[in-house]
Amino acid sequence: MTTKYDAIVIGTGQSGPSLAAALAGSGMNVAIIERNLFGGTCVNTGCIPTKTLVASARAAYVARNADKFGVLINGNISVDMKAVKERKDEVSGTSNKNVESWLKGTDNLTVYEGHGRFESNNTVKVGNEFLESEKIFINVGGRAFVPSFPGLEDIEYFTNSNMMDVDFLPEHLVIIGGSYIGLEFAQMYRRFGSKITVVEKGDRLIGREDNDVSETVKEIFEDEGINIRLNAECITVQKEADGSISVGVDCKDGNNKVTGSHLLLAVGRTPNTHDLGLENTGVETDERGYLKVNDKLQTSVDGIWAIGDCNGRGAFTHTSYNDFEIVTANLLNNDPRSVNDRITCYGLFTDPPLGRVGMTEQQVRESGRKALIGKRMMSRVGRARERSETYGFIKVIVDADSKEILGAAILGIEGDEAVHCLIDVMYANAPYTVIERAVHIHPTVSELIPTVLQNLEPFK
Ligand SMILES: Cc1cc2nc3c(=O)[nH]c(=O)nc-3n(C[C@H](O)[C@H](O)[C@H](O)COP(=O)(O)OP(=O)(O)OC[C@H]3O[C@@H](n4cnc5c(N)ncnc54)[C@H](O)[C@@H]3O)c2cc1C
Repeated sequence: MTTKYDAIVIGTGQSGPSLAAALAGSGMNVAIIERNLFGGTCVNTGCIPTKTLVASARAAYVARNADKFGVLINGNISVDMKAVKERKDEVSGTSNKNVESWLKGTDNLTVYEGHGRFESNNTVKVGNEFLESEKIFINVGGRAFVPSFPGLEDIEYFTNSNMMDVDFLPEHLVIIGGSYIGLEFAQMYRRFGSKITVVEKGDRLIGREDNDVSETVKEIFEDEGINIRLNAECITVQKEADGSISVGVDCKDGNNKVTGSHLLLAVGRTPNTHDLGLENTGVETDERGYLKVNDKLQTSVDGIWAIGDCNGRGAFTHTSYNDFEIVTANLLNNDPRSVNDRITCYGLFTDPPLGRVGMTEQQVRESGRKALIGKRMMSRVGRARERSETYGFIKVIVDADSKEILGAAILGIEGDEAVHCLIDVMYANAPYTVIERAVHIHPTVSELIPTVLQNLEPFK
């Protein structure tokens, strides 16, 4: 039997539910399909649980360092991993249940639980049911990429997903991947009490960032006792006789290996498009499986849109949600919003965090444009000194001629919040001089951004 809908949404990630509710609210008869956990990656295995765990890890860190603030804790500081997981499950589980009850309680919206698969350009099969619509929205997200390291098929390993089930302290967690996800797990588990080794094949951590960002994060991590192994060529994995896992990190010297009790793979993401039945449609993907879209997020088939991580135009909750806003604006509000209007911004939620917007210094240098740069170390920021957290810096780059802000990195206490004053001025299409002349509240990190902009210098 085929049921006809005005719209079908596949996946309940960070854009599908809002879109389904908006379309249903406009009077359309809508179906939404979820095969696993309502709320998708962010809610269940990504942002929310990891930031909840980061908060527990920070509490342990603060407790261990309390004496530096004149606070004495008489007794040992220990971490109850079962309680840490329970707290994470409660925060994450509440969001998951909220998404489910919201969707199931929305008028004109039918929820299907099962795997959605295209049968044709306008038909999707879920279980034994066929759903048909002239408008189909794909919000299937992604999953951890699992590389073909020799030996991997013979051992047990974690990804961000099954790491969520851990309620014990790994003795020595080896993390392959020194980028955003790997680094968040590395620091949190170090603070919980594990020994940590980060194995990265590149010559620095978070290779997409500027060198000064990578170097400072490395320094922060090493100061917390995290081992970092860079330039790890030819990674192999093997289970040792005593049950430990060894990771071969150098193809030139077979003995050059790191041995730990557990392994976490954090080497990137891959879109959930392989099992969507795309071969029954005209929807095109790129060589990595991401759905090709235009600036309105329409795929190569009229009437099929791709939103969220699976379109390769963003990899964050805020970009996925913005995709919902773009599609809704175009479909319901006659507002021609475009994904090309989006300014790149994101955070790395280590402690201290990194707030990023726009181009990196390296990208600006490579572009050859005439630019000015301002940089101030956190050791010269009152808020950071008062909190004894002086790692990092504020760095802003502007165009010397147009005065537009090209990019910024704020690595340091509250950098993930402070960066928003730059983001908003960039969205306003206003020159940096607007912030240069602004008065910000003392003592905050944002307070020093005007000062940084008053002391810009040409690139050396
Ligand atoms: C460890 C980690 C930490 C992260 N931290 C942050 C952060 O701090 N900030 C941030 O902005 N982003 C973060 N992200 C990224 C963020 O989670 C994603 O960008 C966000 O969830 C957007 O995903 P989405 O909307 O594309 O879909 P997803 O959230 O991935 O959801 C897709 C949904 O579709 C379902 N699905 C897939 N295929 C089918 C099918 N065929 N039929 C039915 N259902 C299907 C899936 O089960 C899933 O529920 C993190 C990611 C990870 C892994």
